[in-house]
Amino acid sequence: MRLLIVEDEKRLAVSLAKGLTAEGYAVDVVHDGLEGLHRAGEGVYDLVILDIMLPGLNGYRVCAALRAAGHDVPILMLTAKDGEYDEAEGLDTGADDYLTKPFSYVVLVARVKALLRRRGAGASPVHVHGDLRVDTAARRVFLGEDEVTLTAKEFAVLEQLVVRAGQVVSKAEILEHVWDFAYDGDPNIVEVYVSALRRKLRAGLIRTVRGAGYRLDTGR
Ligand code: CA
Repeated sequence: MRLLIVEDEKRLAVSLAKGLTAEGYAVDVVHDGLEGLHRAGEGVYDLVILDIMLPGLNGYRVCAALRAAGHDVPILMLTAKDGEYDEAEGLDTGADDYLTKPFSYVVLVARVKALLRRRGAGASPVHVHGDLRVDTAARRVFLGEDEVTLTAKEFAVLEQLVVRAGQVVSKAEILEHVWDFAYDGDPNIVEVYVSALRRKLRAGLIRTVRGAGYRLDTGR
């Protein structure tokens, strides 16, 4: 899952990014509304955390522009405590949820998780394929009765394959959703994580589709 933070208070943005990265999300940060709109418009994000008072373009306008362009990415707005803008105005522009500053980090993570879950509404967070069971909400993986311990990045790569089980997922798609834009290393890093997953899970579980990507074998 890849998140975008649009927040001009750099210390806050950096600490949020650090915390969410530790939760296993790929996180990009921009400090300007126009840059935020441009990035979010690329359509690679699973969620956008959007401040309201921003240089360039304010958060309401960023949100309204994204919705007008047909983007349905979940948006969590960060609003100032003095109530300079009211929540109703923000909801009208298409934001999905609000958090008033200062907020606790734990509450922010809970809201982010709830929005991501709601996005997959109807879809159960628990994916079962043969003896493999992946709970994307609790971030736990079981093979038969045994729990398999994965690193945050290993889990994130597996999650991309599991939510599209049986389909081919390209290396580029995995990179886009699991690594942030600061990553400019070798795209073959994906292979390293797939190898680790095969070792920890089962060799035949993740098939290589030559020239196309990877496919989680659903046993069908
Ligand atoms: Ca601000």
